Amino acid sequence: MCPGSFDPVTNGHLDIIGRASRLFDEVIVGVLINQSKTGLFSEDERIDMLGEVIQGYDNVRVLTFRGLLVDFCRAQEAGVVVKGLRAVSDFDYELQMAQMNIGLAGVETLFMPTNPLYSFLSSSLVKEVAKWGGDVSPHVPDLVAVRLRERLGPPPS
Ligand code: ADP
Repeated sequence: MCPGSFDPVTNGHLDIIGRASRLFDEVIVGVLINQSKTGLFSEDERIDMLGEVIQGYDNVRVLTFRGLLVDFCRAQEAGVVVKGLRAVSDFDYELQMAQMNIGLAGVETLFMPTNPLYSFLSSSLVKEVAKWGGDVSPHVPDLVAVRLRERLGPPPS
């Protein structure tokens, strides 16, 4: 299980998903739907972009979930959550969640060190840079760069 908001999917996410697909027979990309937090892209748009960019992987599928990740893992019979660690700053929070999740439901968490190429990359940074007209094309799949430009319009002058 590779969970997240994916608003939108970046090359950092794809790196983790691709590596997970080589380690496990089956990978589920779990898109968290958080009703109290509206993203830049809707649930359908995020799923649509993810669906396009994982087309090369036969053993990866995209599903949405609400509520607790462990409940979703149980329903899907997924025993391992794979999380990318970008820096030590990710670790504190991720460790707490991993320990909570194993206590709640026996779901294991596997931490995968980020490819250094993507260690600074987050969806929120990509959105912020794109909003001000910066070039995010090296950091996201081409179709995501296009959708960002369509959604955000021309950069402010
Ligand atoms: P959230 O909204 O929960 O922060 P994201 O959708 O931004 O989630 O990311 C989901 C997960 O993808 C993260 O918890 C992390 O495991 C992984 N991830 C995100 N960005 C990167 C990156 N640049 N490199 C590696 N893994 C990443």
